[in-house]
Amino acid sequence: MKGNLHCHTTNSDGLLAPQDVVDLYHGHGYDFLSLTDHEKITEARSERLLLIPGTEVVAGQGALGDSYHVVAINVEDNDAVQKHRLESIDSILDYVAGVGGVAFIAHPYWSRLTTMDLSDLRNCCGIEIYNTGCDLLVAKGYSTVHWDNLLVQGKMFHGFAVDDAHWYPLDSTGGWIWVKVQERSVAGLVDSMKKGRFYSTMGPSIENLSHSGGRFEAKFSPVRRVDVVSQGGIGFSVSVDTYEQVKAIRSDLVKVTVNEAKDGLEEVEVEVGARRAYLDLRDGNITFLSVEGVPFQRYLRLEITDANGKKAWSNAEFL
Ligand SMILES: [Zn+2]
Ligand SMILES: [Zn+2]
Repeated sequence: MKGNLHCHTTNSDGLLAPQDVVDLYHGHGYDFLSLTDHEKITEARSERLLLIPGTEVVAGQGALGDSYHVVAINVEDNDAVQKHRLESIDSILDYVAGVGGVAFIAHPYWSRLTTMDLSDLRNCCGIEIYNTGCDLLVAKGYSTVHWDNLLVQGKMFHGFAVDDAHWYPLDSTGGWIWVKVQERSVAGLVDSMKKGRFYSTMGPSIENLSHSGGRFEAKFSPVRRVDVVSQGGIGFSVSVDTYEQVKAIRSDLVKVTVNEAKDGLEEVEVEVGARRAYLDLRDGNITFLSVEGVPFQRYLRLEITDANGKKAWSNAEFL
């Protein structure tokens, strides 16, 4: 199911009325939505879109002086939310988890939060790794460095792409999540989000991904660049451009073999030292990657980037 978990309406500082926001997202093929007005739980109805009651609240303070913004999903009692968020960041996170909700930290980069501000948080499902509004308005949309710094410490934070839309349509429908659910209900969505059964995207889709026996494999929509991110200096990155350059290298350590080429599809094998990668290239884009010989450590996650610079991110898997 496709959905956005962070947006605003005229009930706080958004440009559109709640019903218009619901209609806009439904019109773009979303399956679920949370209206997360500042310090308020906005009510709306929809026959067609699954609405999850939610809010965005300010709580606590990070080391550089700015507050945390917490997105709380599947909460209904605003008085209780307000009481807890005024107490402390821990209090609001514990409260949300206690009532069966999901909480994550909004736009860490925009909020000047440090890794250490985040790493000791309990009952925190994750952080926003992409925020459309922060990206388009002030160029601080990506918080993947925060994410990797948490993952290297063994802290399982999931990565959420959201809109945080205020200035419709400018900062809407730019980042969302695809959730794998057992049942199409709020309970089903919340359960899957807590377990990390979703991926985030600005457009590209991840069809499947596996890691076993030292081999990482993934299939996805056509992209220009594929990154497998792991601990510290370990990882694997390939793009159409680097592939073209590797082909031109004359060295015994580098070997490029085209196994098959027909109907616009090329299956190639690239060996660089002990690393071996198999790629499917379709009309100049990569659609499949299999990697062997990379000693991934601690965790890995997939990040892909298409020809327009749009990205998608899998959640991390601890090794
Ligand atoms: Zn915010
Ligand atoms: Zn917001």
